[in-house]
Amino acid sequence: MNPAIPVIEIDHSSGFCSGVNRAIKIAEDRLLRGDSIYCLGNLVHNEKELERLNRLGMHFIRHGEIKSDMKTVFIRAHGEPPETYRILKNNNTSVVDATCPVVLRLQHKVKESSRQFREKGSGMVIISGKPGHPEITGLLGHTEGNAMLISKIEETGLIDYNQPLHVYAQTTAGEEEYDAICRRILENSLQQTGRDDLVTIHNSICRQMSQRAPRLREFAKKHDVIIFVTGSESSNGRYLSGIAREINSKTYVVGSPSELDNWFAGARSIGISGATSTPRWLMEEVADRIKAIVQNNL
Ligand code: SF4
Repeated sequence: MNPAIPVIEIDHSSGFCSGVNRAIKIAEDRLLRGDSIYCLGNLVHNEKELERLNRLGMHFIRHGEIKSDMKTVFIRAHGEPPETYRILKNNNTSVVDATCPVVLRLQHKVKESSRQFREKGSGMVIISGKPGHPEITGLLGHTEGNAMLISKIEETGLIDYNQPLHVYAQTTAGEEEYDAICRRILENSLQQTGRDDLVTIHNSICRQMSQRAPRLREFAKKHDVIIFVTGSESSNGRYLSGIAREINSKTYVVGSPSELDNWFAGARSIGISGATSTPRWLMEEVADRIKAIVQNNL
């Protein structure tokens, strides 16, 4: 008797978040009009999607590469610091701004906290996030330097607690890690000042992100093998694939269908999931390739 063909399911809550989807839609609309667009940084942390956009006519540049003959520069969902807008204005470059509305709101909040502290002459904005991440560069820029970046719990010891603190997280931060950092900041503040009213915690993790980890845990439990599709530079991909692996040791990370191997012997169900930067079409290509591999094994 032939072994049964395994069920293959793509995780419907994985893939592009609304902010990235919106940015890609804006880019595609402009590219279809035949505009030549220069995107500041990589629009998504996914090499395959970047190749597709490049074929449509999008060029990817670094900040130091802005030139006066670049008519249109595209700002991706992560957002930019005010300095970037100043440079583009001085350059007479028109801007297509695809900053995610959730990131925009956070930029306004950190800017407002920073303005209040500057006016009062006391207080500091604390941002929990990944050094060098473009969203963090943007957020720090909007505080005009009146902020401290915390990337790990040990760094909470460096904060000056004798002042009001407004604490925010990068929208894509891991919820458990941010909770632990906030708890430590509250403990340190109480210990060092005897007060519990100096610290204000803002829950600024994007809801689309905070729901992903619990949903992925359920998805990883349901399947015998998990294929997690992500670009090599995606920190969100590393974080989520780690969560899947904690639940299901048969979790394999691939960037494209060609990286799949013969991992499916005996599997009755195979789940495919991806990072916020993983396009749906790529997960579908991975599903097709898995089907071909398992058919070959029958
Ligand atoms: S994760 Fe959330 S905040 Fe970040 S780009 Fe996506 S929708 Fe926007």
